[in-house]
Amino acid sequence: MDKPKEKILITSALPYVNNIPHIGNIVGSHLPADIFARFMRTLNYDVTFVGGADEHGTPIEIAAQKKNLNPKELCDYYYNIHKKIYEWLNISYDIFSRTSNEIHHRTTQEFFTEIYKNGYIKEGKISLPYCEKCNRVLPDRYVEGTCPHCGYEKARGDQCEMCGNMLNPTELKNPRCAICGSKPEIVERTHLFFELNKLSAQLEDWIKSKKGIWSSNVIAESLGWIKEGLKERCITRNIRWGVKVPLEKFKDNVFYVWFDAPIGYISFTNELKKENLWKKDSNNAGNVKIYHFIGKDNIIFHTIFWPAMLLANNKFNLPYNVVGLQYLNYEGGKISKSQNRGIFCENLSDSGIDSDVWRFYLTFLIPENSDAEWKWDEFLNKTNSELIGNFGNFVNRTLLFIQKNFNGKINFKELNFGDDEVEVLGKVRRKAEEHKQTMLNGHLRDGLKKILEISDIGNEYMQKKAPWKNLKENFEESRKTMYCCALICYELANICHPFLPNSSGKIFGMLNLKVEPKFENVYKEDIEFEIKNVVTLFKKMDEKIIDEIKGNVSKIGVETKEGKKAEEKEEIKMENEENKEITYEDFKKLNLKIGTIEQAEEIPKSDRLLKLTVNLGPEKRIILAGIKKFYDAGDLINKQVIVLTNLKPRKMLNIESQGMILAAEDEEGIKLLIPDKKAKEGSEIG
Ligand SMILES: [Zn+2]
Ligand SMILES: [Zn+2]
Repeated sequence: MDKPKEKILITSALPYVNNIPHIGNIVGSHLPADIFARFMRTLNYDVTFVGGADEHGTPIEIAAQKKNLNPKELCDYYYNIHKKIYEWLNISYDIFSRTSNEIHHRTTQEFFTEIYKNGYIKEGKISLPYCEKCNRVLPDRYVEGTCPHCGYEKARGDQCEMCGNMLNPTELKNPRCAICGSKPEIVERTHLFFELNKLSAQLEDWIKSKKGIWSSNVIAESLGWIKEGLKERCITRNIRWGVKVPLEKFKDNVFYVWFDAPIGYISFTNELKKENLWKKDSNNAGNVKIYHFIGKDNIIFHTIFWPAMLLANNKFNLPYNVVGLQYLNYEGGKISKSQNRGIFCENLSDSGIDSDVWRFYLTFLIPENSDAEWKWDEFLNKTNSELIGNFGNFVNRTLLFIQKNFNGKINFKELNFGDDEVEVLGKVRRKAEEHKQTMLNGHLRDGLKKILEISDIGNEYMQKKAPWKNLKENFEESRKTMYCCALICYELANICHPFLPNSSGKIFGMLNLKVEPKFENVYKEDIEFEIKNVVTLFKKMDEKIIDEIKGNVSKIGVETKEGKKAEEKEEIKMENEENKEITYEDFKKLNLKIGTIEQAEEIPKSDRLLKLTVNLGPEKRIILAGIKKFYDAGDLINKQVIVLTNLKPRKMLNIESQGMILAAEDEEGIKLLIPDKKAKEGSEIG
């Protein structure tokens, strides 16, 4: 009987969906996790690969509030962008879910209840800023002020962006509410704390047991934290967006995002109906290995906080390995959206090149031990010389030669390998074994290098045997050589799959073989090849193509962070001014006009907004109105409305709204203000 397959669960860091991922995010978790998942599948492990979006927390709630969206709408928008990017890059998630799903909320609450029952949760009081005008406490980013460490005036309640120090909201000097700008007072509130300190000794033993499995820097950093002493951590927040705390006394609270996010690994696995991968029970003991792939800023989360939660809960397996990756820089500097430096992935699919080419160079940049750096000239050179000149060239010249001279058909029948064939196949297979060991040790970049060494061996062999010379005098010799080359192509198709899934599929296709990529196939000798429809794997690159690619990928459809900040500031200013008494002069500044709605469309990404085209006489305007819940688009056609026309245009969901339609709101909802008689479009109001 076959022994049951060893189960492996791989997770990639959960992206926080308030922005567009860049190539640093890709090499910092998604890509290495994917390569490893694909590789382990080729070794016949039972692999489950989960990922998803981290959607809770104050940054999203505030960003949504400022954009007049609800947090779910904002998350929907970014979630779809993220998901598409990972799909295009062939990140082979079994599931890419989201923490806003109901199953995640339920799983988090159950997880908490268990920790609570086991005695690791206590109540404690903390001082928090409170805004009287907004009638709310101001956790984390809800408060801004001057950093007590460096004097930066726009530090946020959780961290100062300038000096990087973590902050308490009450530490800020000159604090102000991030929503309305008023000066908050300090109040005391009761919150729940996770007693991390109780688990210190257990964690220390567990981390020490990971020597030889985790990288030494991950172990050193984790033990360093324990040595400094673990403190209780507040796990609740007085905001609305998040997982509700399932205790009556705390029903107005949600869990702090760092508490609920990692539980996503469990809830996403549960969504796949694979609950048993996490459950600690004797049947599973030692038979599931959990790998977390994460960026270096997340290491402590995954080696201390998260395992502590699992230990306190006591029902789940602990991670086997935590792979902590370093950072990727870009052309001599840090990747920065506000400075438009880096490659942001939203437009990668418009780059005009195969996603394998991106994966190829990005694999070389996986920051396994130290920070790496994207360089365009290196991208050009490496792609041309190694991917195309070596790998692609060997595959294409082999397959074209067989298609042309053997009518595509070549097989093992009555073929006696000579010394050269035995030697070359031996070399290839030794290299493949080295590749396998390298990969199992977690060195993915070196794993890819071994593959290129194999195609190098193939090219050398073909060059030496010169099968084109033997075609006439010694056809059998030529057939032998080309069978061997086809075999090497087949082996390459199997082992390049984790890195270059599209190309692997194309090679299998040209070989006309419908098989799953498996490492063991490297040892097959007897195959009937029927090669057809040979296509060039990659198109050679030059400076001009690189410039085009640069142009295509730098079109960022979403506002830059700086732009967003400016917009947010503008809105805070407007809101601050809203409540002041105004003069008649002020009122006269409002340019109100009658308009007729000519078109009304739903926006698929939004369940709140309708896109209206309004005729204002001499001009038409596109206006987004948050009335979808109260009006059917079709009923709005030809309705006349009052439009505030000199409002600064603003972008929502990538559409510019060029004005505002006046409406009244009561408990039933929103009602448009409509003139009682038809008026001429463009008529002034005042
Ligand atoms: Zn600071
Ligand atoms: Zn306020």
